[in-house]
Amino acid sequence: MARSVRVRNLAKSLDISDTELLIWLAENAPAVIARHPADFLPADVAERAQQALGRAQPEAPAPEPVERRCAECMKLPAKGGLRVVEADADAVCDMCGSSANKRAALAMIGAFHARGLKRLLVVGGGPGTAEDLRHLLAGEVDIRIVDGEGHRNAAKADADLRWADVVAVWSSTILSHKVSKLYTDQRASFRDKLVTVPRRGVAALCTAVAEKVNAPAG
Ligand SMILES: [Zn+2]
Repeated sequence: MARSVRVRNLAKSLDISDTELLIWLAENAPAVIARHPADFLPADVAERAQQALGRAQPEAPAPEPVERRCAECMKLPAKGGLRVVEADADAVCDMCGSSANKRAALAMIGAFHARGLKRLLVVGGGPGTAEDLRHLLAGEVDIRIVDGEGHRNAAKADADLRWADVVAVWSSTILSHKVSKLYTDQRASFRDKLVTVPRRGVAALCTAVAEKVNAPAG
């Protein structure tokens, strides 16, 4: 059975002031003499007040967007609006898809962005790795790849070196001495841009380049 309730208790439960409730009562339930917060209200009036003045329950908040990342990707900066949580070891990472190449590429892209760099020149590497690199860096880092066995003249090499922010000489891949020499002979002028990558694989290249970019100048 509904019970009468004091004005102040009802106001409190509605999260409004006693005065607000008394004003509402004066306007909407003039038959009820309630002038003081300690006055009692009949149950039916209390119920009407509750329906009229009760705040609508806030809608359940949308689930917070969560990005599950592998342990390695936890080190990368978070994107706006996403809460980053560490994924279980056997789960696929939202960031890199649990691909070591993608992970290394993302770290390298991050290093380029952090320093406002845009252009990477890769000297050497086979056709497969070139395609992988272009795919991984698409839209993020401009890449120019010099075929390790192709023909390049000094003028072209010079233009490449000037164009690039970072020059990776991929010494472990098919890379003729004639080609690499074009890029490393000018080491004195472009020393700050050059990094030699002694290991094979896209991940190794990206990691070496990121380390180079992240290393303090000098
Ligand atoms: Zn990952």
